[in-house]
Amino acid sequence: MPVKPLHISGKLSHVESSIFTLMSALAQKHQALNLSQGFPDFEVDPVLIELVHQNMKAGHNQYAPMAGVPELRQAIVDFTQDLYGAQYHPDKEITITAGATQGIATAIATTIREGDEVILFSPAYDCYMPMIELNGGTPITVKLEHPNYSIDWNQVKRVVNHRTKMIIINTPHNPSGSVLTQDDLNALAEIVENSNILLLADEVYEHIIFNGAQHLSIRSHEVLKQRAFVMGSLGKSLHVTGWKTGYCLAPEPLMKEFQKVHQYQVFCTNKPVQLALAEYLNTTDLRAIGGFYEQKQKVFEKALASTGFKALPTYGSYFQLADYSSVSTQDDMTFAHELTVKHGVAAIPVSPFYRFPTDHKVLRFCFAKNEETLEKAGALLAKLG
Ligand code: PMP
Ligand code: GLN
Repeated sequence: MPVKPLHISGKLSHVESSIFTLMSALAQKHQALNLSQGFPDFEVDPVLIELVHQNMKAGHNQYAPMAGVPELRQAIVDFTQDLYGAQYHPDKEITITAGATQGIATAIATTIREGDEVILFSPAYDCYMPMIELNGGTPITVKLEHPNYSIDWNQVKRVVNHRTKMIIINTPHNPSGSVLTQDDLNALAEIVENSNILLLADEVYEHIIFNGAQHLSIRSHEVLKQRAFVMGSLGKSLHVTGWKTGYCLAPEPLMKEFQKVHQYQVFCTNKPVQLALAEYLNTTDLRAIGGFYEQKQKVFEKALASTGFKALPTYGSYFQLADYSSVSTQDDMTFAHELTVKHGVAAIPVSPFYRFPTDHKVLRFCFAKNEETLEKAGALLAKLG
């Protein structure tokens, strides 16, 4: 008897593989320079690798505590105090997560129920919306103003109502590289101040800040801090995206609930990596990361200057948006495909960061690369005219 085919109806059946997976696979298939998915192509500091090795050899190979090893929690709480003047209790107000991605998923799963509305800004990083929907929430999108990608707070005020449970903020912003100003923080505080609205602050690029900008963390503002899950990514900050280690900071009542979900989703993350990162953080000048990336951004911007691509302003993250309207009239998905296959440079089309049709003729390039890679990419792009 033939086996009856199984009918499977996944809760995210309407979603495809992410644009990052697609473009990185296409880059690999066609041996293109991969400036699409955001990750460095340069070596990790050998000191950090050695620290992981030492911790493994010293026998730290079993489960970490559920919230993360105390050394790493303390190191993060310390730099949070140092950089943002914000205090968190290392035993009660922080959890080490499997990348910021897990922290975001856990914060949403902890708080969002059927019928809740979550305000987010588009273009939006890809993991927010599916997570809201998986938990029965309704994403409410407010468009960022192209080409500055700034927030129109009057629009936010218009969509806030009694169902609004959370607002998701991402600064520095992926894909645009825009950053929130003090006026933005104040406008947000005015909106949420007398409400129960929670905040999810995705600050994975907190240290990758340049061109005269300053990272204004949600945790630096008392009204905002009180209601915020703040997400960071040591993978981003220390050039080890493959180690998938991030953190979530939140005031005790929020963190208590977050950990109830975290303990069943992952329980804990990689212990020798956590111990190594803690030791490394204690001897790292986090303020130097911005300058390190500013140099790369300048090299890439200069390389773009002799092409038909026009660099848009960026102040943080390791992404550069570029307008290609004088090079091609194709939509961004088609053009990104052609650029990879025919011209040997992979980039990310921006339209997948929107839920509604958009075609601004911009691509996102990742400049977390060796300078030779960036110059080579510039030379290939220059051939398009
Ligand atoms: N948020 C944003 C805006 C990102 O660009 C990324 C990229 N990786 C993440 C979250 C996820 O970070 P992680 O790799 O630590 O999971
Ligand atoms: N955050 C990375 C980017 O924006 C991608 C990470 C991933 O593939 N999920 O390129």
